[in-house]
Amino acid sequence: MLNKDTSKKLFAEAKNHIPGGVNSPVRAFKAVGGDPIFMKSAKGAVMTDVDGNQYVDMINSWGPMIIGHAHPEIIEAVQAAVPNSLSFGTPASPEVEIAELINKMMPSIEKVRMVNSGTEATMSAIRLARGYTNRDKVIKFEGCYHGHGDSFLIAAGSGLITMGEPNSPGVTKGTAKDTLTAPYNDLEAVTELVKANSGEVAAIIIEPVAGNMGCVVPKEGYLEGLRKLCDEEGVVLIFDEVMTGFRLSKGGAQERLGVTPDITTLGKIIGGGMPVGAYGGKAEIMDFVSPQGPVYQAGTLSGNPISMAAGLAMLRHLDTHPEVYERIDNVASILAEETKKTLKELGLNYTTNEIGSMHSLFFTDRKVNDFEDAKSCDTALFGRYFNEMLERGIYLAPSQFETLFICSAMTDEHVEQFLKASKESLKAIH
Ligand code: PMP
Repeated sequence: MLNKDTSKKLFAEAKNHIPGGVNSPVRAFKAVGGDPIFMKSAKGAVMTDVDGNQYVDMINSWGPMIIGHAHPEIIEAVQAAVPNSLSFGTPASPEVEIAELINKMMPSIEKVRMVNSGTEATMSAIRLARGYTNRDKVIKFEGCYHGHGDSFLIAAGSGLITMGEPNSPGVTKGTAKDTLTAPYNDLEAVTELVKANSGEVAAIIIEPVAGNMGCVVPKEGYLEGLRKLCDEEGVVLIFDEVMTGFRLSKGGAQERLGVTPDITTLGKIIGGGMPVGAYGGKAEIMDFVSPQGPVYQAGTLSGNPISMAAGLAMLRHLDTHPEVYERIDNVASILAEETKKTLKELGLNYTTNEIGSMHSLFFTDRKVNDFEDAKSCDTALFGRYFNEMLERGIYLAPSQFETLFICSAMTDEHVEQFLKASKESLKAIH
């Protein structure tokens, strides 16, 4: 067994001062058993904990460290920006540069507003859609997670389903009634829902590839169908690309899958690890945002110069290094193919889903196309798999309902280590 004494001590202390000992529930090991590991440093694809154990990192800060931890270009950009002040609260040139670069990489984003997290991005995007359409209702899909804004904590994936409660207390009935939910990948169901609420639906928000119930890929024609439905009914189509933006391709899921939303929400990756989010889209809609338009949205630290420096370095790297995408897609497809082979060899009938650099192993024999399928997983078995992997130096997200987050710094040796660990772990739990 790995020595985790320092982590254990820190967690015991943390529980006295921080709810559940963590500053975000998805970091807890509640669903997999045991205490969370406290990290001290990370470089490339490897994290080192406070007890000196090393792990191949399959979370990468839940996505943003797409080119690995402590990448020299990002560190240098941050170090160069720091002496000029940590915050102005006035406009500064990197905000213009990043807006231009986002527009170049994701052309559907004609105008963009920077915020500080994915949650802020999605909350602001639906307020904008409501202001623009003068309608109240919003449709989200079961199992999708769009941050912790009140309107989204209904039938939600990620930490909510991991903790076993997809709805949160504290959301008023008034708010909840304006959020309608539909099953993912079922065009007929959402069409009926929109028709039944014709003239009242402001927006449909979706993870174009879901990552928060594990990786769930849209069926052929599904996103195209949503696009057509929104056009017919005057509904704003929002792609939440907090996870997929700049991951599934330079231009996100929308580029890879060839469907264009009206508004896109972004997060994490555009900050290179700093707390950043953004929402953007058609100029005609974005011009409703204050001070140009009447829909209010603000932020003291939005467009923060250090975050912008990190984000710009990250996006410039992604824009000029197509090999990043080749590498992460290639690693993911090796992991997926080899995992399938191992499952077959061990006589196990579990499901895998993958697209680009997103991949999930589901402990269920059902095909996973929606939240109901994902919920059929044996989460206790996943917990045992997680802990076996951890012992072998592989740090997975501590939840069945997440995807792997692969970074381009993963070497062939790391891939080997992962596959060996996975085979041994699967054997150990059966
Ligand atoms: N949308 C999606 C699709 C996400 O995956 C997440 C976070 N995992 C969010 C929104 C919320 O982002 P944040 O945690 O930065 O608030």
